Amino acid sequence: AGTATPSNAEVVEHDTSHVFHSWSAQAKLAPVAIRTGRGVMVEDYDGNEYLDLSSMLVNVNIGHQHPRVVEAIQRQAAELTTVAPAHANATRARAAELILDHAPEGFNKVFFTNGGADANENAIRMARLHTGRDKVLTTYRSYHGNTGAAIVATGDWRRVPNEYATGHVHFFGPYTYRSEFWAENEQQEGERALRHLERVIQSEGPESIAAILLETIPGTAGIMVPPPGYLAGVRELADRYGIILILDEVMAGFGRAGEWFAFDAFNVRPDLITFAKGVNSGYVPLGGVIISDEIAAAFDERVFPGGLTYSGHPLACASAAASIEAMEDEGIIENARRVGEEVIGPGLRSLAERFDVIGEVRGRGVFWAVEFVADAETREPVSAEFMGALKKAVLERGALPFTSENRLHFVPPCVITDDEARRGISIVADALAAVTA
Ligand code: PLP
Repeated sequence: AGTATPSNAEVVEHDTSHVFHSWSAQAKLAPVAIRTGRGVMVEDYDGNEYLDLSSMLVNVNIGHQHPRVVEAIQRQAAELTTVAPAHANATRARAAELILDHAPEGFNKVFFTNGGADANENAIRMARLHTGRDKVLTTYRSYHGNTGAAIVATGDWRRVPNEYATGHVHFFGPYTYRSEFWAENEQQEGERALRHLERVIQSEGPESIAAILLETIPGTAGIMVPPPGYLAGVRELADRYGIILILDEVMAGFGRAGEWFAFDAFNVRPDLITFAKGVNSGYVPLGGVIISDEIAAAFDERVFPGGLTYSGHPLACASAAASIEAMEDEGIIENARRVGEEVIGPGLRSLAERFDVIGEVRGRGVFWAVEFVADAETREPVSAEFMGALKKAVLERGALPFTSENRLHFVPPCVITDDEARRGISIVADALAAVTA
């Protein structure tokens, strides 16, 4: 009692009695209690340690409790903990400048938000105001956030009970393993997905379409790395029909895909870029829109009708600036790319050879999906029971998994070492051996 550390059971009981949890039936919660963390490791209240293969919600790219980021927050807290967005502040300006250092030429403004959903919300608004058009095209296999337009832009099941915003149209993006286009290879999939998108644009009426909003690499929906040429083809369609291209880099950006921005690997230039998560690893909530000069200029004389009390919050901006500087100095993006190519990719592919239940392994950087199938021929997904057992088996062996539908996403922090990555893969292997025995 008193100041003693509570047990896992006490924390879970206390939490679930009073905290209303996201995306959950409240009587069926079974959270893992987390007390602290360091790098790729987290620790519960009973003193058990776990290798964090989830990066929490795929956002702790720099690892837990990075000393430079923690110290920057402490320093900023001692100087100024909050400031109205209308005032100028050096920390906010520095964060914007560092973010823009990694954006393509022709991007010189950042609008800060509190997270990814409101980043997409405001990017959609900018595209609508800039074009004078209404519709926003997004894919069925996507997640863009849980606010008015962002949740309706989202394609997955979470959109359906929340469909109150108007002007949203969905289409199918490329997914070679489960092709909607009877494609037999990546190239066909990319070409046919582009043909499908063009038909949707034509059928909706190009003059009514403000934006195409895409996750550069769809994340929660299954980490489908786009086929070569697909994103360049979307850019070409957007240009041909006068449509704004918004790339959602909330999950894929800031090292996750082994690049500062995932689109750096695909020879494509968006008009608006949305970010959150990895920009400061969520140490303090932060997101934003990186705005091309052309769209920014539209608001030089005209008032932008949008804002947030915490836009450019100094604690968030201090953590972003420190995080980007640490990523630069410590080669964290390069590490993510290399460990993906040399250790995670080959390691997970060798698991696929060993276990028939693995249908496909795909990804890059520290952004990998392992898709499980009950039947290799029909590609029928494994059951929810299988995924539940796998999740439990991974946890019991000392790692925190991220699972979605019939997939395990292998998404550790970008700072993971080769040995830690091998350990993570061997935990998944042991767990799979146990659940398939
Ligand atoms: N966009 C993408 C691609 C995401 O993965 C997420 C969150 O998972 C969001 C937007 C929403 O971000 P937030 O939860 O910070 O609002």
